Amino acid sequence: MGWARWQSFLTDLGEGIQSLFVSPGGTCPFCGRQIEGEAGERSSWAAWLSEWVCPDCLERFPFVVPPLCQQCGRPLRQTSGTHCQDCLRFRRFFSCCRALGVYEGALREWIHLLKYGGRLDFGQALGRMMADMVQRDRQLAEADCVLAIPASADRVTARGYDQAWILAQECAWQTRLPVANEVVARVGSAAPQSLLPTHARRRNAFGQFAVAQPGRIAGRTVLLVDDIFTTGATLSEVSRVLLRAGARRVVAVVAAIGVQRGD
Ligand SMILES: [Zn+2]
Ligand SMILES: [Zn+2]
Repeated sequence: MGWARWQSFLTDLGEGIQSLFVSPGGTCPFCGRQIEGEAGERSSWAAWLSEWVCPDCLERFPFVVPPLCQQCGRPLRQTSGTHCQDCLRFRRFFSCCRALGVYEGALREWIHLLKYGGRLDFGQALGRMMADMVQRDRQLAEADCVLAIPASADRVTARGYDQAWILAQECAWQTRLPVANEVVARVGSAAPQSLLPTHARRRNAFGQFAVAQPGRIAGRTVLLVDDIFTTGATLSEVSRVLLRAGARRVVAVVAAIGVQRGD
């Protein structure tokens, strides 16, 4: 079987597996309780989420409360203005990023279990929700292909898998967009961003990525996928190299976004 056929076989297999896993209106992918679906008076966002998780998980879900920064999607502290302090101060190379929720509460627990507890099914559930969010968002829905932020090889080896890749794969299956994960490679061996203070992350991310196959993203709108948006430095740097290699635009979706002090 050729590679292309093998890939399409895997995709079909994946879709078969998906339908056994998460189904809106069935059981909650995170705790197994019954999902009630839309009921009562809720914000439209809560109503949307109630189709994916049970009432208990909905209760503990850290919503991104508007107003949001129009660029990075982080909740704004001040009620006036359209952009957060970081997006005003630093050049961001992605046009727009959106998150399922804030990196706290239930979402923080689920991502932690995905990364360190082997709960790959949580990655599939989150990825499926992210895909639905992409399809409903005017800017994100313009994407032509999906790309996971590449993890460093040593971290993938230590854990055995890459959570951003799982989320991206699921997003791609659900949106039926091609995955372009191999297009960007990590070329540097910088320290993990999580070990660095905020101000050092931007410098640390610079020059860490290279586009290996520019032909696959030339003229296209690329959807970047990651688990957590902390400072946005990595996301912006990958966006920068993609644009330089000919991508038309870069948009992003993440499972969770950190709230920064002082916004
Ligand atoms: Zn639940
Ligand atoms: Zn922002």
